[in-house]
Amino acid sequence: MSGVAVRAGLFEQTDAGVTLLGDRCRTCDAHQFPRAGICTLCGAPDPVPVQLAATGTLWAWTWVTAPPPGYDGPVPYGFGVVELPEGLRVITRLVLDPDVAPTVGQPMRAVLDTVGTDPESGHDLVSWAFSPLDASVGL
Ligand SMILES: [Zn+2]
Repeated sequence: MSGVAVRAGLFEQTDAGVTLLGDRCRTCDAHQFPRAGICTLCGAPDPVPVQLAATGTLWAWTWVTAPPPGYDGPVPYGFGVVELPEGLRVITRLVLDPDVAPTVGQPMRAVLDTVGTDPESGHDLVSWAFSPLDASVGL
């Protein structure tokens, strides 16, 4: 899937898949997403940019059935929290099979998801999402 990212610097697609771009604090070793110029936990400056793990586990989820203001993508879509092995929880869209309810704790992987159309280029507007590791949706 190609398209225009909703915002630069949040994720990247490589041959290995989609990874979120976070950073790791040089003082307290905490990871965070998205990247910031300071550790949001301890306040130390200049955290190290890192690629976060492309897989995690589902921590919580729900269906969004009504489009939020300004959103012109499809509904319903999944929404929830995925816990990454680095110890942080990421609030995220979820690409799910509408006939298969996910299970908290199940393995998830980062994918790209079309969330609308870029008004300037007319190309797909894409963002990161997470999908069940054993599913083929979202590729
Ligand atoms: Zn820190």
